[in-house]
Amino acid sequence: MGKIYAGDSKIKIDNCFQLFLLKNFIIPGYPNILSNPIEYLKGVGPQRADLLKKELGIFTFNDLLLHFPYRHIDKTKISLISDINFQTEYIQVAGVLFNIEVTGDKRSRRLTAQLKDKSGFLELTWFQGIAWVQKMLQAGQPYLVYGKVSYFQSRPQIIHPEMEIFTSGKQDGKNFLDPVYPTTEKLRSRGLSGRQIGKLTQVLTGMLREKDIPENLPGSIIQQLKLAGRYTALKQIHFPPSMAAYDDAVKRLKFEELFIAQLRMNMLLSNRHRFSKGVVFDKVGGLFNTFYKDHLPFALTGAQKRVIKEIRSDTAKGRQMNRLLQGDVGSGKTIVALLTMLLAIDNGYQACLMAPTEILARQHFATIGSLLKKMPVTAGLLTGSAKSAGRKKILKELSEGSLQILIGTHAVIEEAVQFKNLGIVIIDEQHRFGVAQRAKLWEKGETPPHVLVMTATPIPRTLAMTAYGDLDYSVIDELPPGRQPVTTVHRLESQRSRVMDFLKAEIDKGRQAYIIFPLIEESDKLDYENLMQGYETVKGYFPEPKYWISMVHGRQSADQKELNMKRFVEGDTQIMVSTTVIEVGVNVPNATVMVIESAEKFGLSQLHQLRGRVGRGADKSYCILLSGSKLGNDARERIRIMTSTGNGFEIAEKDLELRGPGDIEGTRQSGVLNFRLASIVNDRPLLEVARNMAVAVLDNDPDLVSAENLQLKEYLNEQKGNVIWSKIS
Ligand code: ADP
Ligand code: MG
Repeated sequence: MGKIYAGDSKIKIDNCFQLFLLKNFIIPGYPNILSNPIEYLKGVGPQRADLLKKELGIFTFNDLLLHFPYRHIDKTKISLISDINFQTEYIQVAGVLFNIEVTGDKRSRRLTAQLKDKSGFLELTWFQGIAWVQKMLQAGQPYLVYGKVSYFQSRPQIIHPEMEIFTSGKQDGKNFLDPVYPTTEKLRSRGLSGRQIGKLTQVLTGMLREKDIPENLPGSIIQQLKLAGRYTALKQIHFPPSMAAYDDAVKRLKFEELFIAQLRMNMLLSNRHRFSKGVVFDKVGGLFNTFYKDHLPFALTGAQKRVIKEIRSDTAKGRQMNRLLQGDVGSGKTIVALLTMLLAIDNGYQACLMAPTEILARQHFATIGSLLKKMPVTAGLLTGSAKSAGRKKILKELSEGSLQILIGTHAVIEEAVQFKNLGIVIIDEQHRFGVAQRAKLWEKGETPPHVLVMTATPIPRTLAMTAYGDLDYSVIDELPPGRQPVTTVHRLESQRSRVMDFLKAEIDKGRQAYIIFPLIEESDKLDYENLMQGYETVKGYFPEPKYWISMVHGRQSADQKELNMKRFVEGDTQIMVSTTVIEVGVNVPNATVMVIESAEKFGLSQLHQLRGRVGRGADKSYCILLSGSKLGNDARERIRIMTSTGNGFEIAEKDLELRGPGDIEGTRQSGVLNFRLASIVNDRPLLEVARNMAVAVLDNDPDLVSAENLQLKEYLNEQKGNVIWSKIS
């Protein structure tokens, strides 16, 4: 965006228009000060405006209003330097500055200064912006200093502290609590430090009147939860008269975020229920019934039956099904997928089952092929490595409709793949698929096919509510009978030979074992060498011809992988040495031991997935987590959790706590978790309340037409286009 010069009205207007397009923040009905470009704010000007846009994404008054302080300085709370101890994290002290000097050579240049109060000395250190900081600091001046205490040569210091010249008492006669904002080094060097941004928000909040920030929540909710009004909350989160007022403001704004998000989610859901068109599976025909009666290899669990019922009733209604099926590893989702596909075929439609890896796709094809051996159903496999002749044949049969089931990897969503009448898409292990990929499926039918997303990665309730709240939801919460919990232990490198002895004993009983190494990234030579070395070591313990070993890793061709997998599945090899490529879906019930090498390198849900490969048959199974003796706190915690529980949901909750929602696979792109204030980890109770209230509002007034909900509707309309909510459609 070009620079704007005062007085150049043409450029200003162009810019306004761009901003209008960018933000779409204009509220119909009355002129709104909040949509003003940020350069119009007193104290900003063109240069700072440019920086605010580039560095913090602040384009308008509204953006600045929503740039919240991360803390407030309470000038009445000043600690003594001598109060600092090893427990101290952040501290605010006041003292006189002296000994400002630059030390170190070119590569380790630093600026240091000493701060002295009546109790002692504290070192302050800068590594960046040295010249600028040095120019600003004045020896002999009293400063108010805030920052995180760290230790250097066992002396406490603060690196890159927040500094301001100290004048005792109330700073500007009004506020005890001065806001400090997130900022960047660049802004800091242009006079917009975390404190100085407060000067801008002060100007802004001083200009705002109640009519500029209309309430968006229904009055009854505000009353019931005793929430602060929107206007008050947005002013007081910046300049609270007290800590209690600050807390009230935060609570109100967090609730608003969560409530609005829940409302949108649930509106999508209810609109889909009310208005979407879907293919109708209302016949439970010959294939489904014949298979159910004559070819089911086992009795279904109660949970499997329930889920199939849910799917049947959902797909019979003439609206599109968009359902998330969660079931822990080994809970038996494949058979549910198969029955669902038969339902589609009975109603004259084709079905597609999509798996995240080639191995898994092949395995599904084999499993389903053998289950359908005696049934008049045609199924094909399409993967990236399909030979062109076979590929052509499959594509032809698909478009003619003679191929009823297509199983494959993401190859099935390529442009060239055209179905005659696709009725349902089942996506296995959904978290591996990107949003865009899933959206592509849509283009494959005139009426959108039903979608069933299956995942074995348990999703914590809060995450499910926020990230997948627009999907219908089924869960298989029961394992097939006869499964025993997997015993999980942690062993150190130094105990390797005992671990191998244990493996030997199991194998000699006729069982099979996995030995898992960290994933080989394309570029990661180290992991590859590590795997090869590991393989040689294993071979040393388990020499041919008494023992045979399969190996599967990401650098092999599909054929090599397939062959190795096959030998293990058929019991020709007793040991599978592998990277995490086998993580999902692989099913070898005779395997009873899983050794995970460098277990500290794996995430919790990954460990849980891996462990799910054993304990699938009737025999007692074991998972051994091998690691070095030096472990970080998080790794130690992950291993502790794995050895103490087998419950996938519990593990998922812990995973969310340890990693935070931003890192949970599959949600990263969705953008739905980018709350400014709320956290789905820390604000669970508030999230539950917000959800219940959103559902209640929509139950009473699905189109938000009542007088009480009008401001809510207006707010939603005005925000439209700013957020991408839908993940599948
Ligand atoms: P996942 O949910 O992890 O995909 P699978 O569908 O691969 O699980 O099933 C795991 C194993 O459990 C398979 O060997 C399958 O044949 C078996 N299985 C599934 N459902 C039942 C059941 N109701 N009774 C007995 N075994 C079952
Ligand atoms: Mg599976």
